[in-house]
Amino acid sequence: MPAISIHPVIDHGIRPAAANFAGGTLVCKCATDPVEVSVKSQSAHNHACGCTKCWKPQGASFSVVAVVPRDSLTVTRNGHKLAVVDPKATIQRYACQGCGVHMYGRIENTKHPFYGLDFIHTELSPQSGWSAPAFAAFVSSIIESGFDPAKMGQVRARLKELGLEPYDCLSPPLMDLIAAHSYKAAHAAAA
Ligand SMILES: [Zn+2]
Ligand SMILES: [Zn+2]
Repeated sequence: MPAISIHPVIDHGIRPAAANFAGGTLVCKCATDPVEVSVKSQSAHNHACGCTKCWKPQGASFSVVAVVPRDSLTVTRNGHKLAVVDPKATIQRYACQGCGVHMYGRIENTKHPFYGLDFIHTELSPQSGWSAPAFAAFVSSIIESGFDPAKMGQVRARLKELGLEPYDCLSPPLMDLIAAHSYKAAHAAAA
């Protein structure tokens, strides 16, 4: 076990994506009547996230979260067990009330840069081949969950060693995408 644990699916080696992978199912951790979600798409922008809102498995410092087109995602079993964690949050995270796992997060604000994308945790899938985590976002935010600030150097070093460039916000391509969206929105409003 490495001195610094990031997340179980990352600590033991990151699995690469499979060519032509076209999605699968996500299953919650309930022993009986688990919630099942079907995703008919490969995931994108998979990353480790240190924010306080994402669902993380027990003991993990980071979540591993990706996006898929919302049209590709359907709740296929036991959807009655799902409830939105925080209805006021930008991302409506649908959690299983039995086991607490977040099955998907959805943005309802059509003006949001990420509208049209649902957030998922591919570790909930029995299939392998999902896009691999490629960077680490909101790294400093793990301190908000109680992580020792004195160990942040070790965390960032470990992330780099794993090939996951650490960022304290999102990755530059995603920050650029958000800024471009803001520019377009402002420009459209002024026209
Ligand atoms: Zn459950
Ligand atoms: Zn997060």
